[in-house]
Amino acid sequence: MATGTINVSVENIFPLIKKFLYSDHEIFLRELISNATDATLKLKHLTAIGEAKGVEYGNPHIEVKIDKDNGTLHIKDQGIGMTKDEVEKYINQVAFSGAEEFLEKYKDSAKDSGIIGHFGLGFYSAFMVAEKVEIITKSYKGGTAAHWTCEGSTEFTLEDAEKETRGTEIILHISEDEKEFLEEGRISELLTKYNKFMPIPIKFGTKTETLPKPEGLTEEEEKDYKAETKEVDNIINNPNPAWTKAPTELEEEDYKGFYRELYPMQFEEPLFNIHLNVDYPFNLTGILYFPRLGQDMNIQKDRIQLYQNQVFVTDNVEGIVPEFLTMLRGVIDSPDIPLNVSRSYLQADGAVKKISAYITRKVADKLKSLFNENREDFESKWNDIKIVIEYGMLSEDKFFDKAKSFTLYPTVNDTYFTLEELKEKIKDNQTDKDDKLVVLYASDKDAQHSYIQAAKDKGYQVLLLDSPIVPHLIQKLETSEENISFVRVDGDHIDNLIKKDEEQISKLSDEEKEKVKEAFETVVPKETYTVQLEAMDSTASPLIITQPEFMRRMKDMQKTGGGGMFGMGNMPDM
Ligand code: ADP
Ligand code: MG
Repeated sequence: MATGTINVSVENIFPLIKKFLYSDHEIFLRELISNATDATLKLKHLTAIGEAKGVEYGNPHIEVKIDKDNGTLHIKDQGIGMTKDEVEKYINQVAFSGAEEFLEKYKDSAKDSGIIGHFGLGFYSAFMVAEKVEIITKSYKGGTAAHWTCEGSTEFTLEDAEKETRGTEIILHISEDEKEFLEEGRISELLTKYNKFMPIPIKFGTKTETLPKPEGLTEEEEKDYKAETKEVDNIINNPNPAWTKAPTELEEEDYKGFYRELYPMQFEEPLFNIHLNVDYPFNLTGILYFPRLGQDMNIQKDRIQLYQNQVFVTDNVEGIVPEFLTMLRGVIDSPDIPLNVSRSYLQADGAVKKISAYITRKVADKLKSLFNENREDFESKWNDIKIVIEYGMLSEDKFFDKAKSFTLYPTVNDTYFTLEELKEKIKDNQTDKDDKLVVLYASDKDAQHSYIQAAKDKGYQVLLLDSPIVPHLIQKLETSEENISFVRVDGDHIDNLIKKDEEQISKLSDEEKEKVKEAFETVVPKETYTVQLEAMDSTASPLIITQPEFMRRMKDMQKTGGGGMFGMGNMPDM
């Protein structure tokens, strides 16, 4: 038996770790399971490259077990284990990462091995919840097993142990005020949250499984049949989630199935998905889903989950994914995203910027290809996806440039034009005196019904732009497109349109018109509204009352907040 002092420069590092390293106590389990996973993956790698001669890798799993009577939580693996010397080296040296050392040593062959650890601090998070921690471990290389014990000070004991099989068992003696971690429900919750897609099977207790009904039962047997059950290992994770596979291996049904796995409580199917897969200049995999968003402005922004080597990190991807895409769902997994750093730092990080730009580009490319492949289908989805696209156009210039080619502008007749198509349609009879194209649009089909009708009777195209961010989008389009202006169908510019081949013939004399106009102006305030007679020469609407375009826009902008500058943070109810 050996005793010694843990080699740290700080007098007592544990209070520090407990207080500052992780704000969340619950992550200790994630860290210990990550270590167990690393130990298993290392063995897998060593057997694969022929460095672990005579070792059978087999089908190793990790087991998590609660022993209520003794107040302990156990995490047990069948990985490489440690010799006594290795315990000295890896455990007693705080902040020395064996994972990093392994990756350094097997640089070329191990870079895709999925090893998780690298700070050399994860193990000590055990002391956030345990007053005493034991390690019983036996190396795959054979030799005597080792038993390390530490009670949360810098003192430890290290002695020989009886252990037949290779691998490591970590025993946590849970402290008095952390007893929740002895509850099955709590552990189960943590496993589902952090470990659901980790690469080595994780067993937590057993479950009852119903055996399939035998075939060819007689009618009599059928009547008496009672379903047979058996107890099987309860494996809490799917070690091969869809995003770790190549897109070519997956069918539409696989993507839908994975969506249900990610969101078991979500019954509606996603509209489509985007598979992310890149390994240069950074590593990133993932699957994003476009859910049906509709007009709902109350969109939760915490539905994309961030993983690192299949370990759940967070469901707050702000700063990593461009803001407009936080409305999507799905998973991204990248070892290159720095963790435990502030969001503002993230936004300035070079790798993160590249990741964000890559994701934006992939989303734009996917939308473009959907548009190209099946226009009709794309149109049918437009109302459910437009909110993301419109936000994207406003907030990301690169996306704006790409989205121009597939952004649809619906008309009041339920047809859809791209901007180019629209320009072509209106170039002959919807221009103003400066030869600018004038796009007419309605924001409320019912309220503006008579104006719409009047414009249609004139042969004008009328768009239906009813999403709350339209005022901002219009401003952006008007500044980026040189020769275009948007006028709401009940705006005052509509009578200035030049229809190239028509003359207006009035049914009233000028004198009569003036009289009627005066009569109306006694009831509507002249300063804010304009009364026009026969402006559209329509039988349906002989008279229209309009509001100057600039007045209306001012009001709209005030309603959605944030003047000219767009920022989702300013939007109401987002
Ligand atoms: P990191 O995982 O970042 O390297 P940790 O503090 O989590 O740092 O672990 C320190 C080291 O202890 C690991 O790198 C590994 O060498 C060793 N270790 C921890 N847990 C195990 C285990 N279950 N099996 C084998 N070695 C382990
Ligand atoms: Mg670790």
